[in-house]
Amino acid sequence: MKAIKEIYPILEQPQNIVITFHQKPDADAMGSGLALYHFLVKGGHKVDVISPTNWSDWLNWMPGVDKVIDFELNKNLSQQLIAQANCLFCLDFNIISRTKNFAPVLEDISATKVLIDHHQQPDVDYFEYGESNTAKSSTCEMVYDFIIESGKGEWIDQTIAGCLYAGVMTDTGSFRFPGATASTHRMIADLKEKGIEHTRIHENIYDNFLENRVRFLGYVLLKRMEVFYEYNTAIIWISKRDLFKFEIKTGDTDGLVNYPLTIKGIKFAALVIDRDEERKWSFRSKGDFDVNTFARKYFNGGGHFNAAGGRSNDSLEETIEHFKKVLKENAAQLL
Ligand code: 5GP
Ligand code: MN
Repeated sequence: MKAIKEIYPILEQPQNIVITFHQKPDADAMGSGLALYHFLVKGGHKVDVISPTNWSDWLNWMPGVDKVIDFELNKNLSQQLIAQANCLFCLDFNIISRTKNFAPVLEDISATKVLIDHHQQPDVDYFEYGESNTAKSSTCEMVYDFIIESGKGEWIDQTIAGCLYAGVMTDTGSFRFPGATASTHRMIADLKEKGIEHTRIHENIYDNFLENRVRFLGYVLLKRMEVFYEYNTAIIWISKRDLFKFEIKTGDTDGLVNYPLTIKGIKFAALVIDRDEERKWSFRSKGDFDVNTFARKYFNGGGHFNAAGGRSNDSLEETIEHFKKVLKENAAQLL
């Protein structure tokens, strides 16, 4: 994989570009995708953004989201756009299986593949150019760096700044995780000078739930959370019936996994959701318990040191039993 800065000369000429990110995009994926979209459009390129799946309603305030194509609803169009593209930007993921059903379309394509991502263990063979930096707070911060280093920082307007802010804010847990560095804060100061209304962005993302989602949170914490003080761990499990009963939609379960970590002494939190196609795990930790390794080793997943995800094809009961078993094996690291 060549350094990302080597792509700048190619971008001096108008290109036909597709931007994509991981399935079920979060604010970092969607924010970085749309920020890059607005930047590249200013550069005279033809740009399309394709999301591998649908996304949460609370991302719909982002400028440009109405132009994002949902691959699952527009397979033919997406295939056409990919076939015509000569450049593919892959944001906030680093292995194409993270694009779910879009992945087969992305294999063996002629477009130049460019990676901008902050997850661990990238599949560097797939990408021709790129930057993979796990020390970065977010892909949005990396897209900001990409724009600044191109010498076109003055192109960052309120629209681009707002998209970038959303991803940095959410991926750093509102600037509390260790990934929020001095350079992250310098970037935020710059975005503030470009006119972002940070209070409105926080409200758009965090104060935009329907009543059922807030009641669902209460229900889950009361009925679906189990705490294992001997391992400083807590797990939340959610059944298909729960999802149905509370009319849970994409994005409504985001953030739930963080709640057990607010219990004094808890270092490791796990959330498992009984989705139609698989049991989806989310893992979060505080301090030196490496959930990326845990997710890779036991749940066919990955991510970051303190935030990762995985999956299982077992039943909900079976995968919870498996979790409890492997938790014991990791007891030494959790004390
Ligand atoms: P979440 O729990 O929010 O779904 O994911 C936490 C982090 O782990 C995110 O950065 C996400 O990209 C990553 N992640 C989630 N699921 C998977 C997975 O199945 N495989 C890999 N490699 N990363 C994942
Ligand atoms: Mn991210």
